[in-house]
Amino acid sequence: MTQTHQHDQTDRHDHREPTVEDPVSLREGDLDVLSRQLGRPVRDVVGIGARCTCGNPLVAVTAPRLSNGIPFPTTYYLSHPVVTAAVSRLEAEGVMTEMSDRLDTDAELAQHHRDAHEAYLTARAAVGERAGTGPVQEIDGVSAGGMPTRVKCLHVLVGHALSTGPGVNLLGDEAIERIGQWWTADRCYCEGAWDIAGQAPEADLSRHTRTQGLSPEAVEAKRAARRNGASGTNNAHHEEQN
Ligand SMILES: [Zn+2]
Repeated sequence: MTQTHQHDQTDRHDHREPTVEDPVSLREGDLDVLSRQLGRPVRDVVGIGARCTCGNPLVAVTAPRLSNGIPFPTTYYLSHPVVTAAVSRLEAEGVMTEMSDRLDTDAELAQHHRDAHEAYLTARAAVGERAGTGPVQEIDGVSAGGMPTRVKCLHVLVGHALSTGPGVNLLGDEAIERIGQWWTADRCYCEGAWDIAGQAPEADLSRHTRTQGLSPEAVEAKRAARRNGASGTNNAHHEEQN
């Protein structure tokens, strides 16, 4: 892999090399916002793949091996509830089947999809190197979202496309176009998109800390309160991509 230029922590999309560039660095407050967006604590996030015009995270970048040792193929995790919900609508409309069918008949598109797969793996290796996790054999050659031959999760493709910029993951680019009635990159949709009251979901395992002394019912109520909104289904969906 080649890195043709130096970049510092403030580098933005306009001079980023599309496939091997490091994600935008974490800023203070990012993990708090991410955990509110997702309704759960975030772990092992090492960068932000893309940001809203206001600076809030759109995509969390996670190391390919979690600190508990589990391999994690979904490097680019769409976090913004408005984008996530919009992509879920596309999925509900049957767009994944439609795209997969096109991959069977459109050789050029199929090649682009394989290239996107390779770009994903290259970027993930770079993230792993930077995060110090090194190569993760268990997921060697395995990307996410159905790549290289299928479309099984549009959230994955959109997360990748937002992180690399246009031209790397073409079906992701297309999905971004197709959610344009609900979300576009040039506007902020953050207001009211997640709960900003009270404490963010804890960064550590809540059952070992904050819930001590609570009844099981109170613990469950606390968890349920955090699971508000579309993020629950999105998470379940994403975790199927492993
Ligand atoms: Zn915003």
